[in-house]
Amino acid sequence: MGDDSVDGLRETASAARRDDRRHVLHSWSSHGSLEPVVVTGAQGVHFSDEEGRRWLDFSSQLVNVNVGHQHPKLVAAIKAQADTLCTIAPYHANEATSEAARLIAEVAPGDLNRVFFTNGGAEAVENAIRMARLHTGRHKVLTAYRSYHGATTGAITASGDPRRWPSEPGAPGFARFWGPYPYRSAFHSANAQEEGERALAHLADTLMVEGPHTIAAVLLESVVGGNGILVPPDGYLQGVRALCDTHGIVMIADEVMAGFGRCGEWFAVDRWNVVPDLITFAKGVNSGYVPLGGVIMSDAIAETFATRAYPGGLTYAGHPLACAAAVACIGIYKDEGLIERTRVLGETVFGPALQAMQQRHPSVGEVRGLGGFWAIELVRDRATREPLVPFNASGADNAPMTDFANACKKQGLWPFVAGNRVHVVPPLVIEEATLREGLSIIDEALAAAD
Ligand code: PLP
Repeated sequence: MGDDSVDGLRETASAARRDDRRHVLHSWSSHGSLEPVVVTGAQGVHFSDEEGRRWLDFSSQLVNVNVGHQHPKLVAAIKAQADTLCTIAPYHANEATSEAARLIAEVAPGDLNRVFFTNGGAEAVENAIRMARLHTGRHKVLTAYRSYHGATTGAITASGDPRRWPSEPGAPGFARFWGPYPYRSAFHSANAQEEGERALAHLADTLMVEGPHTIAAVLLESVVGGNGILVPPDGYLQGVRALCDTHGIVMIADEVMAGFGRCGEWFAVDRWNVVPDLITFAKGVNSGYVPLGGVIMSDAIAETFATRAYPGGLTYAGHPLACAAAVACIGIYKDEGLIERTRVLGETVFGPALQAMQQRHPSVGEVRGLGGFWAIELVRDRATREPLVPFNASGADNAPMTDFANACKKQGLWPFVAGNRVHVVPPLVIEEATLREGLSIIDEALAAAD
């Protein structure tokens, strides 16, 4: 049998497999510039596919698997829990759920010591909005452009992200403001500090225009994730806190992506010593091994929510398997000193290596990030900051980004590419040598975008 017929048989077999899989409707048929693969297994910072290829995971699976794939302690905790108790209605207590809440309260900032569990990030955001409305007796929610809060109706309406368009008109009661983004400033600021100040003045104006007495919450990502890792200038989150205090508005920090170590802190707000009224979390709380999310709050808000709301139908919330995974995951963060390590790696490896790439590659417009949460924004022209590819480009228009992604894939690295950005977000447990290898693959691949 010649090689041609072997290839032919392979193609027929893989076409048959594709056909078998057509019953699953994936939420994303492709991720930006990348065609997805069929993943068959994973270990540590790698995953493998049905073609037998092994990928260095620089995406952490949507910035999720912070402690790496198949961490033995996490897998063991889930197995042990499965042997004991797999499901229980959320009105009962069980040890895993209580312990997960206790550990989360222990690392949460200020007086935030009560945890309401959900099944993921969007549900956490929906519940946080409901809590703010009940607590204030007001209706409106202010959210930022260039934010992402999830795909359910309220969360996608809250998102200032192109992904909301197919769901419009969305839910009522939302208004938007511009957050700070010095590289593409809406305020024509000369520097980050001025950008932060102007963004706060703009938020104060927006509050007055909307009517502060109508506003239940300001909802924002402490560090913007999916829209390009936008780290707020010093003083910005403190300013948002002060405005919320002045007007009796609930400040909701969405830390679904930024929380649980990604920024080199338990929560990103810790970096600025800001205590929001509500924090939403998911992803990193248990590295996504079993779906889990939630809202952290003070006793005062917990009281309003418990007495005035029917939290509603969350059959699986606080699921014992998910919470056992959270207990193990938080234990790993502590035992392996992962959070402090991430902060240091951000300062000593991620930052310097990416900034050196900016020197070498004309396509690198800006490098942003902290901890293990970084992005490179690619441009066609540094002087004008013209984006490398048009907004929402596809096909031939998107060629430079696709070429970059393919150059990474050729070297066995799975990148996280979104629009004009490369998000650099490997699992936090990555060894320094492997991190440097991955960064040099990105460095080489950038030649395809220059
Ligand atoms: N909030 C933020 C900041 C996110 O990044 C995401 C998801 O990426 C969500 C909410 C939604 O989380 P989930 O996909 O778990 O619903």
